[in-house]
Amino acid sequence: MKFTIIAIIIIATFTLKARLSNRNPYYDINKKHHTKTGFMNPYLKSENQGKSFSDLIKMILTKRPKPKYQPTEKLNVYELNKRISQNQNVITWIGHSTMLISIDGKVILTDPIFSKRCSPVPFAGPKRYTSPSVKIDSLPKIDLIVISHNHYDHLDKNSVKILAKDTSTVWYVPLGLKSWFKQFGVLNVYELDWFAEHKSKKIEVTCLPSQHWSKRSMFKSFDTLWASWLIKIGEYKVWFAGDTGYNEIQFKKIGEFYGPFDLAAIPIGAYEPRWFMKNFHVNPEESVLIHKDIKSKKSIGMHFGTFILTTEPILEPAQKISEIISNDSSFKGDFIIPEFGVIYSLEDN
Ligand SMILES: [Zn+2]
Repeated sequence: MKFTIIAIIIIATFTLKARLSNRNPYYDINKKHHTKTGFMNPYLKSENQGKSFSDLIKMILTKRPKPKYQPTEKLNVYELNKRISQNQNVITWIGHSTMLISIDGKVILTDPIFSKRCSPVPFAGPKRYTSPSVKIDSLPKIDLIVISHNHYDHLDKNSVKILAKDTSTVWYVPLGLKSWFKQFGVLNVYELDWFAEHKSKKIEVTCLPSQHWSKRSMFKSFDTLWASWLIKIGEYKVWFAGDTGYNEIQFKKIGEFYGPFDLAAIPIGAYEPRWFMKNFHVNPEESVLIHKDIKSKKSIGMHFGTFILTTEPILEPAQKISEIISNDSSFKGDFIIPEFGVIYSLEDN
């Protein structure tokens, strides 16, 4: 009898602990994207929020391209530093969703990943087929870093640890991720919910929605938030989409309340097969719709050309974007498909 009571107490304690650890400490009943255990996409049906185990296996077994490795370390760091010191507004693509943007002498880095693989382990998982356009230790001084979510291709522990050495850099992360950064010695980290704003000197940062999800370990998903970011420096407005699927509401609202944007970084790759990817990754048609919805003057493609995550041919995202734009008489502005090593001027807006 005594043994049974002790066993019940132990089991109850562990069950409660597991339940409590799945509790969303930020839960706000008035916010549509909050749940008691984490977060959700307000414009997706509940059955479309996640993926079944069988779908995941089917996707993993689907054939995908196997490109040859291409070294692409082409960025002229001297030229970049010169243009930053002259306060020229520029952007250069480092690979995947890692963009370096300089506005009025302030340098922004997005979702930095410089590791060879995007994976929890160094010996397996998707491997880069293009190198970053610059080595991490050759980067200029970074003022601000934004992180979209915790998937391994956007949140890279090795890169964070190296970038954390500059303790003056200010980091912005979605709700639930601050403690992860603190364990690696990141000092200035602000954790924001959708629509929350933070000002630091002349830089204004606003956390905005995206349609995505989060997962970094076997037993937890949707437990930390995913986001897009608005960064306003003086009058110049940059929007970083992060990782996202499309819906007809969220981006139009962003455009209406926060647009127009001078610059938008929008994903264009990792979209096939559609039966699996549609809700969480946009295809080129949807990338162009986002450009229009948010009222972007100049967009730049990202989330392609670096890791093989999906099944579309590697050159398809760039080709499709060009085709769509050249056949669309209502398209306004500019949509750059970036090349490694090119420093794009943002002076002409
Ligand atoms: Zn993701």
